[in-house]
Amino acid sequence: MPATMASTVAHVAYIGLGANLGDARASVEQAIARLRQLPGAALLSHSALYRSAPFDAGGDDYINAVAALSTTLEPLPLLRALQAIEQEFGRERPYFHAPRTLDLDILLYGDQVIATPALTVPHPGLTQRAFALLPLLDIAPSILIPNAGPARQFAAAVGAQRIERLP
Ligand code: AMP
Repeated sequence: MPATMASTVAHVAYIGLGANLGDARASVEQAIARLRQLPGAALLSHSALYRSAPFDAGGDDYINAVAALSTTLEPLPLLRALQAIEQEFGRERPYFHAPRTLDLDILLYGDQVIATPALTVPHPGLTQRAFALLPLLDIAPSILIPNAGPARQFAAAVGAQRIERLP
């Protein structure tokens, strides 16, 4: 295919959502609604909302969720589109691990392994962070993490992290 021709092959990407500033629950719910309108993507499903303790950081608890998208966007354009949504939600980055209005991460993109300066997929925190792993398992209990194996095998290792599934 010529390099200029857009790919029409759809991939399933799993997006981690997190917020811990302002009305975090509303931010995550609105961000899921925003993902429904993302050009080049269709929202397949999303997890329940979770409340989790900040990981390696201070501040309020986070609200988290994971969404599954079927998308024809390549990984980097998808990341840019997610970053544009973060900006819409007024995210500022005053310092590393600062509280955030909305954080969107690409956890998985099909079975692709990506290691570039802008993008690491699978997301390196996925197997170690309950707030990403547990909502992912909600909607994809049998999912395989490339180069790591079944996601569910990592659930026990994050079992001590404080996280609660919201009704
Ligand atoms: P964060 O502050 O945690 O949102 O990190 C944002 C930075 O992580 C951006 O500069 C991205 O280019 C980079 N990044 C690397 N891999 C990923 C990924 N899988 N999903 C989202 N951002 C990523």
